[in-house]
Amino acid sequence: MTDPVSVEEHQRRVLEAVAPLAPVARPLLDALDLVAAEEVRATVSLPGFDNSGMDGYAVRLADVATATADQPVELPVAGEIGAGQGGPRELAPGTVAKIMTGAPVPAGADAVVPYEWTDRGADRVRIQQAPEPGQHVRPAGEDVRSGDLVVAPGTRLGPRHLGLLASVGCAEVRVHPRPRVAVLSTGSELREPGRPLGHGQIHDGNSYLLAAAVTRAGGEPQRVGIVPDDAQAFLAVLDDRLAGADLVVTSGGVSQGDFDVVKAALRERGVWFGPVAMQPGKPQGFGLLEAPDGRRVPVVTLPGNSVSSYVSFTVFVLPALRRMLGLRPELPPTVTARLTGPLTSPAGRRQFLRGAYADGSVTLVGGPGSHLIGGLAQSDCLVVVPERVTALAEDDEVAVIRLDGAS
Ligand code: AMP
Ligand code: MG
Repeated sequence: MTDPVSVEEHQRRVLEAVAPLAPVARPLLDALDLVAAEEVRATVSLPGFDNSGMDGYAVRLADVATATADQPVELPVAGEIGAGQGGPRELAPGTVAKIMTGAPVPAGADAVVPYEWTDRGADRVRIQQAPEPGQHVRPAGEDVRSGDLVVAPGTRLGPRHLGLLASVGCAEVRVHPRPRVAVLSTGSELREPGRPLGHGQIHDGNSYLLAAAVTRAGGEPQRVGIVPDDAQAFLAVLDDRLAGADLVVTSGGVSQGDFDVVKAALRERGVWFGPVAMQPGKPQGFGLLEAPDGRRVPVVTLPGNSVSSYVSFTVFVLPALRRMLGLRPELPPTVTARLTGPLTSPAGRRQFLRGAYADGSVTLVGGPGSHLIGGLAQSDCLVVVPERVTALAEDDEVAVIRLDGAS
């Protein structure tokens, strides 16, 4: 039996084989949550022109300097300026212009008097208070100046960044695209959900589990569905999928059984198979396969038990997807929590138990069995028990990988 490799070593092996995907230009809304691959500088200023911050009257300060509630200043209204509606571009001395929020302040005006300080007159208006210089005028370039950096490379684009890019007139942005991930479930016992089961058959949970986890991680899953335990059939499906994939994830067929076709078929193509010092998820495999276009596509072969495949995805595939997306290749957030009860763990293997986390405490959910998907679904974290630890007591501290929202 080969010695197991450490979790870190297998993580490194997978990570070293992937890089941020080549940048592509995407329309703004397709870039949500993706990472900018270039710096974007504003080619305009924001605001783009001096504009009114209130509905009111554009005035010349000198004309209204003496205005008070007792002695209002009355002036003719020379025109009306709505946002995007045209209207006078210059204000003659001794006149005012009605102006709406966002409308360009006419040349010569140096403040906006809000409606509330006036009698709201249409042809003539009585102004009851003198504004400060520049009052309610939003000056051009106050927010962003032409040439300013609006998005730095490496920024994960959220709604606020996309709003800013649109505001400075960008319709597209160059990003690292979503990795296209082919997800194959292997097993002659598998049937699609919705189909009846014959003797010894089970529904394919894993391709849904993994495809959804790919989406959550920011990738674009291609759920191939079920492949029987037949090497020729498996290779045919795999070869067909390599062309359109940046990464292939398989489940099942990697342990010591007689029908472990993934291992049988891919070993000959140079894929590494062996044990990793963890539980669940001991049998793993990883390699690079050549696609028809010459690209070498990473293939991560996960074990078939559902919890094993999910834990392995979290530990090995998730960081790789993050790197392909241009993010730091880290695990979901890990916190320290106190155990609400004791546990035992095998020596020499890092154990990932399912847990429920609340207020700094973690309670184990379900048993340690790697097939217990019911318990997995009820959990919201993985309790990590280090390789050298074989028992922990109530109140002991453990590291906990929080799952929700992350994968
Ligand atoms: P394997 O790794 O192929 O030996 O499978 C290990 C266990 O996981 C077996 O009990 C399989 O029936 C089960 N299994 C394999 N693939 C899936 C799947 N896609 N969904 C649910 N269980 C699976
Ligand atoms: Mg199998």
